[in-house]
Amino acid sequence: MQYKQITLKRGKEESLDRFHPWVFSGAIAHADEDIEEGDIVSVYANNGRHIGNGHFQIGSIMVRILSFSDTDIDSDFFFNRLNEALEVRKALGLIRPDNNAFRLVHGEGDFLPGLVVDIYGNTAVLQAHSPGMHFARNIFAEALVKLPGIDIKNVYYKSETTLPYKAHLDAQNDYLIGQFETNVAMENGLKFHSDWLKGQKTGFFVDQRDNRALLEKYAHGRKVLNMFCYTGGFSFYAMRGGATLVHSVDSSSKAIQLTRNNVELNFPGDNRHEAFAEDAFKYLDDMPTDAYDLIILDPPAFAKHKSALKNALIGYKKLNAKAFDKIKPGGILFTFSCSQAVSREQFRLAVFSAAAMSRRKVRILHQLTQPADHPINIYHPEGEYLKGLVLYVE
Ligand code: SAH
Repeated sequence: MQYKQITLKRGKEESLDRFHPWVFSGAIAHADEDIEEGDIVSVYANNGRHIGNGHFQIGSIMVRILSFSDTDIDSDFFFNRLNEALEVRKALGLIRPDNNAFRLVHGEGDFLPGLVVDIYGNTAVLQAHSPGMHFARNIFAEALVKLPGIDIKNVYYKSETTLPYKAHLDAQNDYLIGQFETNVAMENGLKFHSDWLKGQKTGFFVDQRDNRALLEKYAHGRKVLNMFCYTGGFSFYAMRGGATLVHSVDSSSKAIQLTRNNVELNFPGDNRHEAFAEDAFKYLDDMPTDAYDLIILDPPAFAKHKSALKNALIGYKKLNAKAFDKIKPGGILFTFSCSQAVSREQFRLAVFSAAAMSRRKVRILHQLTQPADHPINIYHPEGEYLKGLVLYVE
C-alpha cells in the first residue's frame, strides 16, 4: 500500500533507527500537502530510505510509528498486534477464573502507540490517545471480540477526555459492540466494580495489582490507612490480609461510595472498615500520632508535565513528611508516584528528604514499579511511570 509521505531533515532519523516510535514536528523537512490528522503515513530519511509507517497527528509529536518495515497497516496488522499482546498476558498467567481484570494494550509498551485497552471480564474498555487510533476504533473492536482464548463480548469506547481537543474529533463514549452486562470483575480472587461509564480512566487502576498483593502480606494485625483510596483496591486486600482496622480516605465522595461498595462486595457487614471523604493533607494533619502502623499514599500524578516538576517534588515531600511524623514505630509505609515526569531517583530523593525531616530510622524494604501488563517498550523509556517504595519506619 502506498501511503502519503513524510521526509525527515538530515540526521533526524537517528532516534528512529533505534526504534524510538515518535517523530517530532521539528524533525520534518517535507510532508505531502494533503496529509490529514489520523492518516497513516510513510516516513523517509532525507536520503529517501524508508524508516517506518505510522499515524500522523498535528502537534509536537507528529508521527507515532506503528511498524518499522513497509507493511500495510490494516485490520490484519492490528489483529496480530492485539494477539501478540494477548499472548504476553497469557504468559503472565493473568487470565484465570479468579483474575479477569488486566491491561491488554499499554500503548507504546505493546507497540500500539496511542492505544490503551483494559479488560474487565467480558468487557474491553478502549481508550484512544491519538486521532489515528480514534479512526481505527471499530477495527480494534471487531478484532477484540475475535481474539482466541478470551471471551470479549462488549467493547466500550472511552476517549472523550483522552484525545487531543484541538483535533475536534467529537468522540462519544459509547459501546462499539455489545452493551452493559455487569461491571463486577475479579483481581486475585477479590471482586470489584469497575465504573467505566463514570469512573476515572477505564474505571479501575489495574496498575496497582502486584503492589496490592504485596500489601496484603504485610496487613496481618495492622491498623491500615489507605490514603487516596479511589475504588478501595488496597483496602480490600488489606482486609483479606487480616488487618484489624482499615480506614480509606479520598477527597471525592463518589470514590468513597465506590470503596464502600467494593468492600461490601467482598466482606459484607465487616465493621473493620470505615471510609472518609476528606482532603489528604487535612486528614494527615488532624489524625492522632500512632493511630496507624500501615499507611498507603497513592496520590494522583502531581506532575502531569515537566513544567510542574518542582512543585510536584515539594508536594511529594510534604505529603510523605506528614506520614513519617504520624506513623506508629515499627510501621510500614507504601508510598507511590504515578507522575511520568518524576524520575525514580527524584521521587526517592523527595521521600528521603521527608524521612530526614522526621529524624526517624527508615529502611527501604521494596522498590516497586508498574506490573508486567503495563510493559515498557525498551526503545521508549518514557513508558515507565509508576514507582513506589515500601519503607519500614522505626
Ligand atoms: N490508590 C487508588 C488510586 C488512586 S487515584 C487505587 O488503588 O485504585 C488518586 C485518588 O486521589 C483519586 O481517587 C482522587 O479523588 C484522590 N485525590 C485527589 N486529590 C486528593 C486530596 N487532596 N485528598 C484526598 N484524595 C485526593
